[in-house]
Amino acid sequence: RIPPDITAFSHPRLLNMKTLLDEQQLERGVSELAQRINDHYGSRPLTVVAVMTGSLILLADLIRRLNMPIRVGVVQASSYRGGTRSGELLVNAAMLINIRDREVLLIDDIFDTGRTLERLLEDMRQMGAQDVKSAVLLQKNRQHDVQVRPDFVAFEIPDEFVVGYGLDYEDMYRNLPYLGVLEQADLDRHHALHGPAIDR
Ligand code: 5GP
Ligand code: MG
Ligand code: MG
Repeated sequence: RIPPDITAFSHPRLLNMKTLLDEQQLERGVSELAQRINDHYGSRPLTVVAVMTGSLILLADLIRRLNMPIRVGVVQASSYRGGTRSGELLVNAAMLINIRDREVLLIDDIFDTGRTLERLLEDMRQMGAQDVKSAVLLQKNRQHDVQVRPDFVAFEIPDEFVVGYGLDYEDMYRNLPYLGVLEQADLDRHHALHGPAIDR
């Protein structure tokens, strides 16, 4: 049985996670990212393709800082089915807007192994995009499995499992306004509150 006071931890702000990037740092990083994207594209129209669901918050904060005419499309990709380990990559581009002959900027939350971005860059080219570049909030400081690298990166971070600002653990914590490191104690607390890990 969960002691009554631990229910306080069910509010994500109160999980006591280690903060990697606070709200001010994230805002500054996304502003600088937007500035580099504005500098690169100038006033040319841009089609932003966001990889759901992790880039949800970045999408909202970034496009409001972009100065060119913008179209927004989304694709879904998932490689972390319910846990912190990488699994099979699932992609759903069925609802994507037409990107033929468009300049596309793919945006994702984090570049980890790089397999998601590599796959989606190829998919966008196959769909007839004139040019495809990529922007991510985070790039993990580790060996990547692919040759390609994101064109625009807001932050390089250590190789730890992070949540918040769109990034989830078992579909939760996306609403944290800061980026936290999910350590073993946090995982234990999460499972005490929300039940054992689900394998989907
Ligand atoms: P990649 O294909 O580059 O290995 O992984 C990209 C995807 O894996 C990201 O879009 C994200 O959904 C997930 N991912 C990778 N590292 C992390 C992490 O530290 N935390 C969370 N929440 N998701 C991650
Ligand atoms: Mg993702
Ligand atoms: Mg995830």
